Amino acid sequence: MSVQVVAAKMAEVELKDGKNLAKNDPHEAGSSAAASPTAEPSVKAGESSPGLLTPNPVKMPQASAMKRPDPQQNGGEAFVNRDGTVAEAPRMKKIQFADQKQEFNKRPTKIGRRSLSRSISQSSTDSYSSAASYTDSSDDETSPRDKQQKNSKGNGDFCIKNIKQADFGRREIEIAEQEMPALMALRKRAQGEKPLAGAKVVGCTHITAQTAVLMETLSALGAQCRWAACNIYSTQNEVAAALAEGGFSVFAWKGESEDDFWWCIDRCVNLEGWQPNMILDDGGDLTHWIYKKYPNMFKKIKGIVEESVTGVHRLYQLSKAGKLCVPAMNVNDSVTKQKFDNLYCCRESILDGLKRTTDVMFGGKQVVVCGYGEVGKGCCAALKAMGSIVYVTEIDPICALQACMDGFRLVKLNEVIRQVDIVITCTGNKNVVVREYLDRMKNGCIVCNMGHSNTEIDVASLRTPELTWERVRSQVDHVIWPDGKRIVLLAEGRLLNLSCSTVPTFVLSITATTQALALIELYNAPEGRYKQDVYLLPKKMDEYVASLHLPTFDAHLTELTDEQAKYLGLNKNGPFKPNYYRYY
Ligand code: NAD
Repeated sequence: MSVQVVAAKMAEVELKDGKNLAKNDPHEAGSSAAASPTAEPSVKAGESSPGLLTPNPVKMPQASAMKRPDPQQNGGEAFVNRDGTVAEAPRMKKIQFADQKQEFNKRPTKIGRRSLSRSISQSSTDSYSSAASYTDSSDDETSPRDKQQKNSKGNGDFCIKNIKQADFGRREIEIAEQEMPALMALRKRAQGEKPLAGAKVVGCTHITAQTAVLMETLSALGAQCRWAACNIYSTQNEVAAALAEGGFSVFAWKGESEDDFWWCIDRCVNLEGWQPNMILDDGGDLTHWIYKKYPNMFKKIKGIVEESVTGVHRLYQLSKAGKLCVPAMNVNDSVTKQKFDNLYCCRESILDGLKRTTDVMFGGKQVVVCGYGEVGKGCCAALKAMGSIVYVTEIDPICALQACMDGFRLVKLNEVIRQVDIVITCTGNKNVVVREYLDRMKNGCIVCNMGHSNTEIDVASLRTPELTWERVRSQVDHVIWPDGKRIVLLAEGRLLNLSCSTVPTFVLSITATTQALALIELYNAPEGRYKQDVYLLPKKMDEYVASLHLPTFDAHLTELTDEQAKYLGLNKNGPFKPNYYRYY
């Protein structure tokens, strides 16, 4: 049976039962996981939890009890304070349980003069560049807050740069729709059922064409939406205009001040006669604002869906402090999302980022990639395919062996540093490329980071009097030694792809679909199914997100026979793997 048919069947099950996507009691899995002192049992809990779309209501799944990355190991982010200082949030990797409480993090932020609350996070200032955007903030210097605008239907409940850009934005949204097949499929299937009827979703995410597709899908599923930007730079003004023209209450524009940022969030939330009952957050700023300003709102809020590492970390902090008063879904750690963000996205965007900034030819170039995890594997695969000679450095013998098996030379950085043309860091670690190595690189060597924030390359060590910095292009610096040698430093050591290229829409489609399903799940869960805790999405939901994307490729999924299912001990409709399966 083709995947279309399977997916259709799954959706039928889902939407027939529109408001009850997951029906079993999460306490079963949640409590068994929480009771375990180790990470493995949580996997078992998730494994045994029935899938989201399992037809039998009695054996339905739930999100597995919260597991989280270890702040010590990976994926942390920094928070840029208003005064330019950077406070690093603990980084995450290892799986933990909800009841393994952490210290409530008193993040060292310095509040700026006009700040309403606290400094905005790094996620609020890191910017996705969007090459296809028409967004132009230079034509009109008037603050959107000082303008009275209305859409063609006379509705003025929004605050954006310029409503007249709506037609451009609509084209952007239509282009994005083509690469977001799962959301479009959800929309079609929701024509009869409205699993989000009555949902009042307040959102705080990047406001881009892809987010617009998500918002319009949520609306098609029955939700009312009010939205602000999670990033002061990333709003596509024309997309915000198209959304406002379409009747969405959007409060966002490219180049907001910090004061604007919080004002926009407040306008989404603080409205007479309208209270949100669901939160969709990216970075935790919206959740933080409601906690701080309108804690009573949580009486009506059914759940929080959080996308980012930072936001998930904050939720765990709240949980640890006993302050999380509604269930939350950790979308960030779902398998499909992680694979696409880390491996497939980086496999594409490493070339894009390097090409846009340097016009380098990859064939025959010697490249060293530090770290052979998901991001490193993606970078290596792309560069190898382009004919580069790729070296890998690793500290973990397993990943090191994988690199060898994949045909890469495993080296120490000091063994190749004099000869390589490009150095790429992907470790999630700090000070991987230090001044000693930078001193020894050859003339013209390109240095960039695809891993963690701005810690992997010791850029500060290059700010010494004997070295000259020359900005040659946006995001490209030549650092020149007294003897004339120069290295090419990209994005000042920050994430190359976020700073210098775009994130493919298809990658964002995976995330957006997961967000939509998490909202549906939390909104429709009967009281008591989810506690005031952080949950991972059930494996079944991950599989469903993947299956919704397969028709794009005319992919035909094989269906288990009854005999085979029995032999493997699986339900024919999944989940097909235990939660601990790594999908290498
Ligand atoms: P990972 O843990 O799978 O891989 C990191 C690898 O680096 C590990 O195998 C580790 O053993 C190795 N490593 C650590 N220290 C090292 C050192 N000093 N020298 C050599 N190797 C070392 O993590 P990942 O999923 O690949 O993510 C890596 C980083 O990239 C994280 O900080 C993550 O947040 C970030 N990330 C970036 C993007 C992006 O778009 N650029 C996307 C996803 C994740």
